[in-house]
Amino acid sequence: MSGKDFYRDTLGRIERSAERLGLEEGIREILKYPRRVVEVYLPVRMDDGSLKVFWGCRVQHNSARGPYKGGIRYHESTDLEEVKALAALMTFKSAVADIPFGGAKGGVACNPKALSRGELERITRRYTAALANDIGPYTDIPAPDVGTNPQTMAWIVDTYSQLKGRKVPEVVTGKPVSIGGSQGREEATGRGVAICAEEAMRHMGLDVQSASIAIQGFGNVGTYAALALAERGCRIIAVSDSRGGKYDPRGLPIGALLEHKRRTGSVVGFKDGSDIGSDQVLEVECDVLIPAALQNAITGGNANGVRAKIVVEGANGPTSPEADEVLRRKGVMVVPDILANSGGVIVSYFEWTQNLRREYWELEEVREKLERRLTCQFKKVLETSDEFGVPLRDGAFILGVKRVAEALETLGLFP
Ligand code: NAD
Repeated sequence: MSGKDFYRDTLGRIERSAERLGLEEGIREILKYPRRVVEVYLPVRMDDGSLKVFWGCRVQHNSARGPYKGGIRYHESTDLEEVKALAALMTFKSAVADIPFGGAKGGVACNPKALSRGELERITRRYTAALANDIGPYTDIPAPDVGTNPQTMAWIVDTYSQLKGRKVPEVVTGKPVSIGGSQGREEATGRGVAICAEEAMRHMGLDVQSASIAIQGFGNVGTYAALALAERGCRIIAVSDSRGGKYDPRGLPIGALLEHKRRTGSVVGFKDGSDIGSDQVLEVECDVLIPAALQNAITGGNANGVRAKIVVEGANGPTSPEADEVLRRKGVMVVPDILANSGGVIVSYFEWTQNLRREYWELEEVREKLERRLTCQFKKVLETSDEFGVPLRDGAFILGVKRVAEALETLGLFP
C-alpha cells in the first residue's frame, strides 16, 4: 500500500468516527490535518568520502491532549504521506490509551541495513540538529520505530543535550536503560499484545490456558508477545519471519526457538515442528492470530483463508479495509492496532514520567501499571463498540476521536 493510500484510509476512518459522533465541521477539519510539517534535507559525509543528502521530516499532528509523541522511521520508501498517516494514528493511539500525549511521527528516507553504524550515527545527529527547535521534552518527544532502536535514541539524547548545554534524557523515550530508559520498555508492545489477546479470549469465552496462537513476524513485537502468552499457558503453534516459518499443533518450545533465532537470525532450520511459508501462518487453524510483521499482511485476497477466531494486530495496519470486511462477515474478532500495540507508547509515557521525576521503577511495577491501563482501555473500547454497534476498530477510533475532540473543544481557539 502506498503512503498516499494509507493516508487516505486513515483520514476515512477519522471522518467516519467524527460523523458517528456528530462533531461540528470545524473540529473534523482540525482532526484531519497535521498542525505542523517540517521537512529537512540532511547533508551527510559517507564512509567512502562522498557527500549525500537525505530527506527527512517530522509531522506533528495534534497536541490537544499533551506534547506531540511518536516514533522515527528509517526506511527507504518512507514518504510524507505515510508519515502523516502514522502521525495521525499516534494522536488517536495516545488518546485510546488515555495518556497525556498528542501524536507525531518522523521519518528519514534511507535503508538502515545498507548503512554503516557511523553513517547512521551521522544521519541521526544531523536530523536531531535540524529539528532541535521543534522537538523537546514538553513539545515533541520522539521514540524508535521501524529501522531505529535504543541506540538511535541515545545519539538523539547526546546531540540534543550538547546543543542545549544540559542533559535532557526526557527528550526521547525508548532509550537504553543505562541512560534513563525504562525497565520493560523493550518488551512493552509485545506484552501489551498478549494482554489484549487474553482480554479478547475472555470476552469470546475461550480458555486462555489451552488456547492456540499463531504469530506472523518474530521480531521485537512477535517474540515478546509469544513469551508473554506462553507464560499465560497458551500454546504457540505457528510462527514465521521473513525467511519462513514453523508449525506444531502441540505447541513450539518458545525459549529454544528464540535461542535458535538469536543464533541463526531466523526461525528457519529449527529442529522441532514442520516447515511452513512466511505467509502460510496466517491460514493456520488457531484461536488467536497475531500479525506482527508489516502493514497489509491480511488483504482482500487472503482474508478468506484466515481460520483464527481472533486477530490481534501487533503490527501497524496489518489488515486492509477489504480484509476487515471479510473478517467481519466471518465473525472473526479483530483487536485493532491502535489498541493492541499501544503497550509501547504506554511504557514510553512511564519512561517520560520517570525521567521528569528523576524516579526509577522496578520491572514488576511497570508491568503491573501497563496491564492495569490496557485492560481498562480494552473494556472502554468494547463498551464504545457496543454503544455504537460497530466492530472494535471503529469503536477504538470513535473513543480516540471523542477524547481528542473533547480536549479541542475545552481548550478553545487562540487567538
Ligand atoms: P522487527 O523488525 O523487530 O520485526 C519484524 C519481523 O517481521 C521480523 O522477524 C521479520 O523477519 C518479520 N517479517 C517481515 N516480513 C515478513 C513476512 N512477509 N512474513 C513473516 N514475517 C515477516 O519489528 P517490530 O518492532 O517487531 O515491529 C513489527 C510491527 O509492529 C511493525 O508494523 C511496527 O510498526 C509495529 N509496532 C512496533 C512497535 C514496537 O514497539 N516495536 C510498537 C508499535 C507497533
